[in-house]
Amino acid sequence: MERTLILFKPDCVQRRLVGRILSRFEDKGLNVVAMKLMHITPDLAKQHYAEHVQKGWYPTLEAFITGGPVVAAVLEGLEVIRVVREMLGATSGLKAAAGTIRGDFSSSRQMNLVHASDGPEAAAREIGLYFKKEEIVEHTLTITPWLRAGDEA
Ligand code: ADP
Ligand code: MG
Repeated sequence: MERTLILFKPDCVQRRLVGRILSRFEDKGLNVVAMKLMHITPDLAKQHYAEHVQKGWYPTLEAFITGGPVVAAVLEGLEVIRVVREMLGATSGLKAAAGTIRGDFSSSRQMNLVHASDGPEAAAREIGLYFKKEEIVEHTLTITPWLRAGDEA
């Protein structure tokens, strides 16, 4: 079982799309094991987006991501890191395929609504940035046997 860090970015919260997009992840059968509303500080933004800090457009990204509250969450499921990235679609909402979250809800390269970890190392690092160990709630929903066969886990 894998875990990934997602952020409902400030545009998603402001546009009141958190509920509709969270429903897509729930409908897919993914489990929410941690979730909170919070502000991202400039310091946290620099840690989260360390790979982009040197880029010319980083200041606009930092202003955006710190510009309003976000909802941070940890999703759990089989191959969840890849599955969630595919559900998001390409970075720009203008390029993302129809049917993906960004393709359906975003017309922007920057305001693309949701972040998700892009690999196992990023997921472990990002979950640690946003959540303490005790904030992650281990549980198994009783419906699990109706979401996948027993030999798939
Ligand atoms: P992804 O979120 O798909 O992994 P990147 O890691 O390339 O995308 O970029 C991180 C975030 O920075 C994007 O989700 C988007 O919000 C923003 N971003 C990406 N490219 C640009 C750009 N050229 N100008 C401004 N913001 C950008
Ligand atoms: Mg990225």
